[in-house]
Amino acid sequence: MRESLKFFIDGEWVEPAELKTLDVINPATEEVCGRIALGGAADVDRAVQAARKAFASWSQTSREERLDILQRIVAEYQKRFGVLAAAVTEEMGAPASLAQRAQVPIGMAHLATAAEILKTFKFEEDRGQTMILKEPIGVCGFITPWNWPLNQIACKVAPALATGCTMVLKPSEVAPFSAQIFAEILQAAGVPAGVFNLVHGDGPGVGVALSSHPDVDMISFTGSTQAGIEVAKNAAPTVKRVHQELGGKSPHVVLDDALFTKSVGRGVASMMTNSGQSCNAPTRMLVPQARMEEAIAVARESAERITVGDPNGNHTLGPVVSEAQFNKIQGLIQKGIDEGATLVTGGPGRPEALERGYFVKPTVFANVTPEMTIAREEIFGPVLSILGYADLDEAVAVGNDTEYGLAAYVSGADAAQARQVARRLRAGQVTINGAMDVTAPFGGYKMSGNGREWGDFAFHEFLETKAVVGWGEQQAAE
Ligand code: NAD
Repeated sequence: MRESLKFFIDGEWVEPAELKTLDVINPATEEVCGRIALGGAADVDRAVQAARKAFASWSQTSREERLDILQRIVAEYQKRFGVLAAAVTEEMGAPASLAQRAQVPIGMAHLATAAEILKTFKFEEDRGQTMILKEPIGVCGFITPWNWPLNQIACKVAPALATGCTMVLKPSEVAPFSAQIFAEILQAAGVPAGVFNLVHGDGPGVGVALSSHPDVDMISFTGSTQAGIEVAKNAAPTVKRVHQELGGKSPHVVLDDALFTKSVGRGVASMMTNSGQSCNAPTRMLVPQARMEEAIAVARESAERITVGDPNGNHTLGPVVSEAQFNKIQGLIQKGIDEGATLVTGGPGRPEALERGYFVKPTVFANVTPEMTIAREEIFGPVLSILGYADLDEAVAVGNDTEYGLAAYVSGADAAQARQVARRLRAGQVTINGAMDVTAPFGGYKMSGNGREWGDFAFHEFLETKAVVGWGEQQAAE
């Protein structure tokens, strides 16, 4: 049993103002695997005050001092790869192999990338008459989800530390243990007291208090669109900067010249990864109508090769995160059938011989039309919708026919055509033929959010811009 009954505030593990606890459920067993203390407004206030106090000195540190701390964090993180992976598997059900191969390394990639960028990042721009100064925005509040917990924490904390900000993190109450270890890493690396603080809790208790706190300068939120809207509303009266990474319903346009065995197969695998619980999952596959049968055959074979089971066993997929998510996904699968989509494989109910745990069958629907619920709603489960298109204009129109705009994917042999389609898709990150770049800006158009994370773009999210006009010698001499 894991226990996180203290908060990390001002460089120490402290008792909550009032002890209330929440059980954490292992989604593979449906059993309690630990508990956390749930914070409240008093804990948030204490953490924000610590961050405010620390900002005075941390914001004045040199690039070299912050680089040294980031490099020490990377080293401490590396030492804890195994325990971090085990925590992620237990709290949210990612298969051990995925935790070790992706969930934990991506957190590390953001830390190492921030260190690398910090070495040469330009915090000043001398325009002669005017000097542009990029200064840390101040105290940041971070609210993160459970699906890629270390990715989402590290991609906020790393650039915030690099730019001289101080912060209070509220990790997901569903996946709090990897965050706990992350805080221990920062402590071991010697991050000065108050620069990084962690308060466990839920949305109503800690999330609301953090997003409305008058002494927080910026909130960076990753999670559902609904909660993101609440955060922005609560942040509005104090006019803080709000960064939002929200939901998605990303299209994957498979062009007519694509090698279907490769492109459709990769599309299925990528969509199903992490049990479909990725905000940028390619959930809508768009294929030429004339080749729908061919796409169905490849998708069926790819989905049926996926094994589901104990995340500590040798399986491609573990469970989905919770009973609530399991029920929501089952409801949407049924809706797909009721609204007339063709069920290619998978479907309602649990996979055979998996009576306990929130396991869902990898499910593929074909002949999905754009108005069907499964083509519009974010399912956040291993459910793929295949839609047909007559020509490229229709592919682009259907691809863009969503309230979201987080990611999009294009597969095809002709690079010029793939690039042209990429230009026409309204999404913050478009991936051609399965490429990957953790330094490329990541974030959404439309209701998928505001702002960009990852790489150097993330630095700008945590910086204020100051123009000093009259910096030039002539004015200074007066
Ligand atoms: P969620 O919105 O329920 O919770 C996310 C975080 O917000 C949690 O820490 C939660 O405690 C907190 N929260 C909930 N209500 C709040 C409120 N009113 N005020 C302040 N904080 C509040 O989302 P989830 O179920 O944890 O994650 C799944 C969702 O996150 C999906 O919609 C997914 O698409 C999205 N997501 C987006 C990205 C991205 O980068 N765009 C990445 C991962 C997940």
